[in-house]
Amino acid sequence: MAVIVWGTHVFNSNKGFHGDKVKCPNCDRVYAPSYVKSAYWFHLEFIPLIPYKSTYFKACPICGYGVELKGKEGKAEVKELPEVTDQQFEPYVNHILANKPKGLLKTDNSFEFHVKDLTSGEDICVKQNMTKDNKYRVIVTNKSCLT
Ligand SMILES: [Zn+2]
Repeated sequence: MAVIVWGTHVFNSNKGFHGDKVKCPNCDRVYAPSYVKSAYWFHLEFIPLIPYKSTYFKACPICGYGVELKGKEGKAEVKELPEVTDQQFEPYVNHILANKPKGLLKTDNSFEFHVKDLTSGEDICVKQNMTKDNKYRVIVTNKSCLT
């Protein structure tokens, strides 16, 4: 018996930074927002066949706070607003207790999420007290070390 696999798949693509630098209402950092496009496709046997929806996520490049835009709206903003090319970031995780013996801590929550601004050289700690299983998703609000 043949099994036909079908469903949907989302392709995310980075569209860069666009527009004026604005102050983030969540972390107070001032940067041009980043745009990420999500294209939703219907697939059959894992072969993408029909695109049926697209959205854009416009967000603060440091903490990820942002809004979802409809496909047309997001596409227009990316096309019309000038691309900002003097912003570069390097996200990384710092494991503070990496050299401590294992078994000492019940849960090792000494991971920190950082974003380094490669233009200014500033190292920004975004979130503390994370475990290795933490899923760093979009918005950082709890246990944030942003000031
Ligand atoms: Zn922010």
